[in-house]
Amino acid sequence: MATLIDGKDVAAKLRAQIAAEVETLDPKPGLAVVLVGEEPASEIYVRLKQKKCAEVGIESFKHELPEKTTEDGLLALIDKLNKDEKVNGILVQLPLPKHINKFKVMDAVLPEKDVDGFHARNIGLLVQGQQGLQSCTPRGVMALLKAYDIELAGKEVVVIGRSLIVGNPVAQLLMNENATVTICHSRTNDLSLYTKKADVIVSAVGRKNLVTADMVSEGAVVIDVGTVRDGTKLCGDVDFENVKEQCSAITPVPGGVGPMTIACLLENTLLAYKMQKGGA
Ligand code: NAD
Repeated sequence: MATLIDGKDVAAKLRAQIAAEVETLDPKPGLAVVLVGEEPASEIYVRLKQKKCAEVGIESFKHELPEKTTEDGLLALIDKLNKDEKVNGILVQLPLPKHINKFKVMDAVLPEKDVDGFHARNIGLLVQGQQGLQSCTPRGVMALLKAYDIELAGKEVVVIGRSLIVGNPVAQLLMNENATVTICHSRTNDLSLYTKKADVIVSAVGRKNLVTADMVSEGAVVIDVGTVRDGTKLCGDVDFENVKEQCSAITPVPGGVGPMTIACLLENTLLAYKMQKGGA
């Protein structure tokens, strides 16, 4: 029976550390959250992020813009937030309406306030292995692996998914820890050929039962980033019930990577604050 990698527990400990450090700071770190349009899922995420900010003493400022907001209108708000000393981190909730170029928006946020780690400069620093702000979910995955002492150097890791938000940066972070990384994606011909050889599998796709027990080698570690609505329930990419009998450690969905994403957003906001004050 596999070890259950408890993201709720690791995230709670990380939040407690952040809260203790924030307590000593004056002024408090501030996070601006920008929401364009009325996507219900985004509204839920934004509310949760604000709630978690409040719990650790980080101030949050919510900016809601209508769906029809122009790209220039959004860029003007980002410019204002870039100049606002009370704002240490800026998060623009994705997805954005189609008429707005998300890359322009990502690169408009000052790199030192880019708590999502999406700015081209922060992605460059990640590739260089230098300190910058890194994408929250990939950081969360790495923090879970570290919390459970999962060795990465020299290990074969398969990342499924190549998005800019998860797959790509997590592969880079794993490589920075000296893992041998293979990235699989929607055009990979035989996914199981790769997963069967892996010591660690990180799946970030969003497809129920994509990873089944026959695709996982005995004793592998399985990190499930995927989130799929299954009726009223939430599930991941991995056939959890069967894969857990096969692997050595596994994250559940919910309660695995999800809580880590928000905890890492809070950690990034604190790090951004310290970088801006010259303390990091
Ligand atoms: P995305 O849609 O941008 O990327 C999905 C990736 O999966 C693509 O790179 C695609 O090539 C790959 N893919 C699609 N079908 C595939 C297949 N059959 N075999 C192999 N690869 C396939 O999504 P994303 O933003 O990277 O998110 C991925 C999943 O992670 C989603 O379910 C999302 O909801 C979830 N997610 C969870 C958290 C969290 O905090 N738990 C955070 C971010 C994303």
